[in-house]
Order: sequence, then structure tokens, then C-alpha cells
Amino acid sequence: MAESELDQQFMRRAMELAGKAESEGEVPVGAVVVHDGVVIGEGWNRLIGQHDATAHAEMMALRQAGKVLQNYRLLDAVLYVTLEPCPMCASAMVHSRICRVVFGAPDYKTGAAGSVMNLLSYEGVNHHVQYQGGVLEEECREQLQAFFRRRRSEKKAEKEARKAAQNPSEEN
Ligand SMILES: [Zn+2]
Repeated sequence: MAESELDQQFMRRAMELAGKAESEGEVPVGAVVVHDGVVIGEGWNRLIGQHDATAHAEMMALRQAGKVLQNYRLLDAVLYVTLEPCPMCASAMVHSRICRVVFGAPDYKTGAAGSVMNLLSYEGVNHHVQYQGGVLEEECREQLQAFFRRRRSEKKAEKEARKAAQNPSEEN
């Protein structure tokens, strides 16, 4: 299989995990860590459920992969994530000695793999992580945008329902 096809295949798995986050009421971001062609870590956003601001999809996948390899150094591993990593996750990838990061949609607000800043590879860092964005970019972006659209309309409906309850006369 061509490398780009493999990348897409693992990105699809990351998207499935993002769907898991969404079903738990979390922002849909998913990640997998692949080593020797095998998935050794899977993660999805669990901040709300775990009361943990560090429970980003990438962190969860890195933690599981470390347990599988019995090593915090994930040499030669590739991490796939549906959204460009934030500064925390990018730094964790450097500490983990991840070889390569592949992401779907860029994050123009907090992306730390080139969009806003680059913490994966800059002069002075002792371990450079290769990175590549734009794999299944459209699909990954749509997954996130659909979630926020739905959440906005739910909030709007809630607000209107509250308003209607406070002013019942206006309903007549
Ligand atoms: Zn993050």
C-alpha cells in the first residue's frame, strides 16, 4: 500500500475515535499512535469526562502507547490526529521522541505544528519531529464544524426555550 493510502487509513481510524469523543459530549478530536504498522495507542478528547485539561486525544494515545512499549520513548512511532496539535501536545510529542506527526485539519488558533507556531521542529530543540498536515483535511474539518454548528443551534434552542418559559404571554 502506498504511504499516502496508509496515512489515510490511520487517519480514518483517528476520525472514528473523534466520533467517540463526540458521543461523549466532547469536542471531536481523535488520535492513534502507530508503531511498525500496528496501532499501539488510541485516544480521543476526554477533558470533560475525566476532569482533566490534559486529556487531549494525543495525550491519551501517547500514554497508551507508552504502556504498550513499556517505554516513554516512542522511537519510530507515527502519531495521527484529526486536528493540528496544540502546544501542550506538540511538546509531549517531542518528549516522547515521536518520529512523525500526521494531522488532518490545521488549527489557526492554537496549532503548534506550523499554523500559529512550530514546537515540533525548531532550532534548539534536541529532537525534531517530522510533520505533515492536510491528510483527509476536508473530512476532519467538517467533523469539527458539524459538531460546533450542532452545539450552537442546541444552545440557541435552549435559550429560546428559557425565554419562552420566562415570558409565557409572548407565546400567545
Ligand atoms: Zn492538545
